[in-house]
Amino acid sequence: MARITEVRCIRTRANGTWVIVKVLTDQPGLYGIGSASDHYHATTVMHLIENAVGPRLIGRDASRIEDTWQSIFTSGYWRNSSLLNTALGAIDVALWDIKGKEAGMPIYQLLGGPCRPAVPCYAHAVGDDLPSLEDDVRRYMEEGYPVIRCQLGPYGGGGFVEPNRVSRPRNAWPQERIFDDEAYLENIPRMFAYLRERIGFGVKLTHDVHEHLRPQVAVALAKLLEPYRLFFLEDALPPEQIAYFRLIRQQCTTPQAMGELFVNPHEWLPVIQERLIDFIRCRVSKVGGITQAQKIAHLCEWYGVQTAWQEGGDNDPVNQAAAMHLDLASWNFGIQEENHFRPEELEVFPGHAVLEHGYLYPNDRPGLGVDIDEEKARQLLQPDLARRVFSMAEDRRADGTVVRP
Ligand SMILES: [Mg+2]
Repeated sequence: MARITEVRCIRTRANGTWVIVKVLTDQPGLYGIGSASDHYHATTVMHLIENAVGPRLIGRDASRIEDTWQSIFTSGYWRNSSLLNTALGAIDVALWDIKGKEAGMPIYQLLGGPCRPAVPCYAHAVGDDLPSLEDDVRRYMEEGYPVIRCQLGPYGGGGFVEPNRVSRPRNAWPQERIFDDEAYLENIPRMFAYLRERIGFGVKLTHDVHEHLRPQVAVALAKLLEPYRLFFLEDALPPEQIAYFRLIRQQCTTPQAMGELFVNPHEWLPVIQERLIDFIRCRVSKVGGITQAQKIAHLCEWYGVQTAWQEGGDNDPVNQAAAMHLDLASWNFGIQEENHFRPEELEVFPGHAVLEHGYLYPNDRPGLGVDIDEEKARQLLQPDLARRVFSMAEDRRADGTVVRP
């Protein structure tokens, strides 16, 4: 039996936004790693793990994954916060890593064995105008991606207008760009009309609204996009407005993907049980790791909902590996969001998953399959960059109101 002797964090990426937890045991060389990355609160999560959650685990049996999960879940009495979930998720994945190493098997074998030999991923095509977006879509089609997400520039792109072209108060706050729901409603269906006319219906396309719209505009958008037969529409609504999915369902057949901001079972339970979404999009680390994500996947199976774990942008190779093990072992897997890392970032994580022509490939090493080179992690971190404060882009409507991202 392995007992936990130390829980510590390793901060890396040039800007310090990746935090990897290492759970060490009293067995020589036996440890596990998990992702505790939070792009906006890296040092807060590290403090939580090293000063509150971690010390409680010293001396515990590392094999008790479910029991440890339940114990951390209620350790602060208040639960389901994104930051506690992140700490919990990192430790959970590290314990799965340890169990896999003890068993001599990859985690996907412990979860029931692979349902597929590799993991199909969706690409992120982007263009500031329609011809450049079409070029990017064609580039990913040629590369072999089975599904391609289409965006007009940054999140909310298609809905941005010049401040001097809309009605604003004379004491308007300074803004570089204005988000306008009606402009978005005009431009995104036009974008798909353009793409479908040129590349046909053979390629599977998606779009990410990133929760920018007023709820009733989101319902209208889903309806207007119906003729273009999307693989899914992502985050049409913010988590606070999930009841509007009922209206979307009543109005159209556009498939819905939702959940990357979900942290609480009361957010995902109704949309799964009422079959209001088609793909669940939680981030594995933000719902509490493999243990919780597997329960969500199993629940979804019985309601005909598929998984599409969130993985883009600020995620790290360790959380990508955790999602990949679930992707391989879940019958109701749908698609995996891709992520690209720089070569010097991948060097920090020997055994990382390999993304090739739109498919993610695991290795057959025991546990998570990926490790961390702590010396290279230290070298990658640039302390000056890591001192910066990160926050989401603050988009506003013409009257100055903040748009929920
Ligand atoms: Mg998204």
